[in-house]
Amino acid sequence: MSTFVYMTSCDGCGHCVDICPSDIMHIDPTTRRAYNIEPNFCWECYSCVKACPQNAIDVRGYADFAPMGHSVRVLREEEKGTVSWKIKFRDGREKNFVSPIRTTPWGSIKGPAEYEDPNTQDFATQQLAHEPDALKIDSLPTISRSQFVEGPL
Ligand code: SF4
Ligand code: SF4
Repeated sequence: MSTFVYMTSCDGCGHCVDICPSDIMHIDPTTRRAYNIEPNFCWECYSCVKACPQNAIDVRGYADFAPMGHSVRVLREEEKGTVSWKIKFRDGREKNFVSPIRTTPWGSIKGPAEYEDPNTQDFATQQLAHEPDALKIDSLPTISRSQFVEGPL
């Protein structure tokens, strides 16, 4: 479900531009309002939806669950620490979900600069940066060759 912007609500602050991992939220140079330049490349991460202080970004539902007449609205309430989703179906049914903005205390996650610099041997391992410490496990799970099934099941 890609996103789109209600231009009358957007004030052009640029938070969605900064947070979008796909770099597809841009500010229109003429209107000074944000828009999604390429919905097909949307990761559907909804970071922009949750970051928008004006609640100006909405979600285009897929036709299978939200055909014409639906709406998917999200509300970020920082003082309550919650993100609420309101799904309205075409037949009038409504579903509401509330979840915490985050499950760990603010400021408790280390930034990349707070970790030791990587060294060149790290390129030879299967682990990603900060694994396994950042996952709070001793080591990543492994699978041995004998556990793979050979031939048709
Ligand atoms: Fe970018 Fe994610 Fe928003 Fe899509 S949902 S526009 S990928 S921030
Ligand atoms: Fe507009 Fe919201 Fe993006 Fe700010 S975060 S530029 S208000 S859509």
